[in-house]
Amino acid sequence: MSTIAWIGLGHMGVPMSKNMVDAGHTVRGVDIVESARAAARANGVDVVGSVAEAVRDADAVFTMLQNGSVVEQVLTGPDGAFMNMPAGSVVVDCSTIGFETARSLADQAREQGVGFVDAPVSGGVEGAEQASLTLMLGGDARDVGIAEPLLKSVGSYIVHVGPSGDGQAMKVVNNAMLGVCMASACEASVLAKRLGLDPRVFYDIVLHSSGDNWAFRKWFPLPGVVESSPSSHGYEPGFMVDLLHKDLYLATTTAEDFDVRLDTAAAAMKLFAEASASGAGQRDCTALVLELDAAGETRS
Ligand code: NAD
Repeated sequence: MSTIAWIGLGHMGVPMSKNMVDAGHTVRGVDIVESARAAARANGVDVVGSVAEAVRDADAVFTMLQNGSVVEQVLTGPDGAFMNMPAGSVVVDCSTIGFETARSLADQAREQGVGFVDAPVSGGVEGAEQASLTLMLGGDARDVGIAEPLLKSVGSYIVHVGPSGDGQAMKVVNNAMLGVCMASACEASVLAKRLGLDPRVFYDIVLHSSGDNWAFRKWFPLPGVVESSPSSHGYEPGFMVDLLHKDLYLATTTAEDFDVRLDTAAAAMKLFAEASASGAGQRDCTALVLELDAAGETRS
């Protein structure tokens, strides 16, 4: 069994670190928010006061943080993980941060004599709770060889995509489609509502029809139909509007750099940006349906 540092005990970090504890690993957790620390502590995580303390004797350091700048802040500098973890151990970053940031962090890790694997995940909080996440790994064979056995405690489909950054590149492409599907599910649900269609019948028919997709099926945005969807729990996250907006921003800026049209992702990004601007940034991404519904009601 290994000693693991887990930095970032949010919606994903809590269930993922719990699975590490349940697998028998010693897990030292860090978060800046007390409620997050309390939730992890209740699961058997040894919550400590600083990144340096958490990583001091860690075989591997996991990060599950909002975005690239938070990951950089936690890993680099004199108090960061790279400078304080044992030589030869590995950082496994499960956050979604874009491939350029991941490659830069992998270079910095190498300079400090430690390893780095980008390991973004797909499957949401439900996938994290059930240890059924998909993980897309970027990194060299040695580092991935250390990360992969540990990741079997949090995921069920784990693929080494290629060198550093390739896991993030795969994730950005996946989430471009997730964002479009989620926005489309919200728009179509408002239209179905206006047409007077029964939400449950609408849901069941789409699942047997050509409009079916993962976002619609798992995160159906109208309440009371899919028990595990955040829409049935007051639109509490789940996966926040601001995080999906961040992923669509990563996708659209990457597409610009590579001279690729990503017009549907850009349109979805605009909708989530508007939802965020109207105060829904910290709600689950399914809450876009409420914004679209309210906008229509205002117009009519
Ligand atoms: P979250 O905001 O719930 O969790 C992030 C946690 O990091 C918070 O608890 C926050 O307090 C903590 N944190 C922030 N700065 C810190 C610091 N300096 N030191 C220690 N802790 C710090 O986000 P989440 O939903 O858990 O998502 C995390 C990452 O996973 C994001 O990149 C997201 O895009 C990605 N992701 C999320 C989901 C999902 O369904 N929620 C699914 C797949 C991927």
